[in-house]
Amino acid sequence: MRVDNSRARFLKKYEQRLKKVLIAGFAAGLVVCFLLNMVINRIRIGGIDKKYKTQITELTKKNEKLSSQVKSGTSNNKTDTEAGASELSSEEDTWSLVLINEEHPLDTGYTPELAEIREGTFVDVRIQEEAAQMFKDAAEEGLDMYIVSAYRSYDTQRDVFNATMVDWISNGSIPLEAYEETKKSVAVPGTSEHASGLAMDITSAQYGELDDKQADTAEAKWLAKNCWKYGFILRYPPEKSEITGIIFEPWHYRYVGKDAAKEIMEKDITLEEYLAQ
Ligand SMILES: [Zn+2]
Repeated sequence: MRVDNSRARFLKKYEQRLKKVLIAGFAAGLVVCFLLNMVINRIRIGGIDKKYKTQITELTKKNEKLSSQVKSGTSNNKTDTEAGASELSSEEDTWSLVLINEEHPLDTGYTPELAEIREGTFVDVRIQEEAAQMFKDAAEEGLDMYIVSAYRSYDTQRDVFNATMVDWISNGSIPLEAYEETKKSVAVPGTSEHASGLAMDITSAQYGELDDKQADTAEAKWLAKNCWKYGFILRYPPEKSEITGIIFEPWHYRYVGKDAAKEIMEKDITLEEYLAQ
């Protein structure tokens, strides 16, 4: 009996000790868990940063690859890139019909012969007269137009693209999203028509925003109706972004020559569709 008693006491003591250990262990476990959670979160946040960094690196590489391809003409668009630039600078009638888009980048070394259309704003010298006439006729009808941008070099285009992408990122987009969103409204450097000197972004002087509401201004309405008479087209019409790769831009006008402009605007088609027919 005594033996049993002392054994029972021992067991009880052991049990109490075990309880203490367990409680202490539990408390310690809680603290450890809390700390671990913090550490894991840190790692996870670090991981997200890392993921962003990887994406940014990938995108930078992609852009560098594209620009080096465009520069050296080693992409599968080699002929397009070179042909585009040489056709643009040629005496052939088709110089005004050169297609420039994501699939058909323009040689970054191409620089048109420029003429000033407004102070500090330049276009290809071959379209200056018709562009000036267009603005003159519009002014005579009491319209006040503003050229936001015309010729843009490859470097300027790259700066515009990067700045827009940074805007998207600072508004909470991840880099890949930012890249895709930017692409919808700003041509990837090397694929912009502005580098050809044949494109102009024109807004109402009263309403200078580059958004859908621009289409409601008297100036935009007049341009959409009359641009073809001067050889210009509304390059990125509504509901054609699947074809052009660019959202509706009621301000972006591209010179294609009078015949093509008439047909494109009459048939309500894009330059891509016109050239494919
Ligand atoms: Zn434009």
